Amino acid sequence: MSKLSCICGHIIVDQTDNISYKAHFIRNQDIDAIDNQVEDINNFVNAIKNGERNKWLKKYFESEIYQNLPDSTVISDIISKYNLEYQNDMFLCEKCGRIKIQKGDENKFISFLPEDNHWIDIFKGLSKS
Ligand SMILES: [Zn+2]
Repeated sequence: MSKLSCICGHIIVDQTDNISYKAHFIRNQDIDAIDNQVEDINNFVNAIKNGERNKWLKKYFESEIYQNLPDSTVISDIISKYNLEYQNDMFLCEKCGRIKIQKGDENKFISFLPEDNHWIDIFKGLSKS
């Protein structure tokens, strides 16, 4: 998604990082499935210990491009693989406060209207950096 229109007329733009009106969510019923990433990372570490790093990478990613990439990139991509599968987006309309929540794995968003006016910074990051 790069642009999403709100019923109020505002266009929500998703074309950069660090967006204060965007959030991600994971459904509680997917937590166990996502925990499998720990097992995948553990298997990667064991493959390194056993001298089977390249063999494991080729089988896991079905590609040879990872063989020359650092371990940190491999681990990051294992985590990204799970995020892509289970993590969805939410957007806040900065004009009217409606929250758009992604439905399932479709490119479809369901809209919710707030009951009060305390919504403006609801998706503002908590990190200090
Ligand atoms: Zn709106």
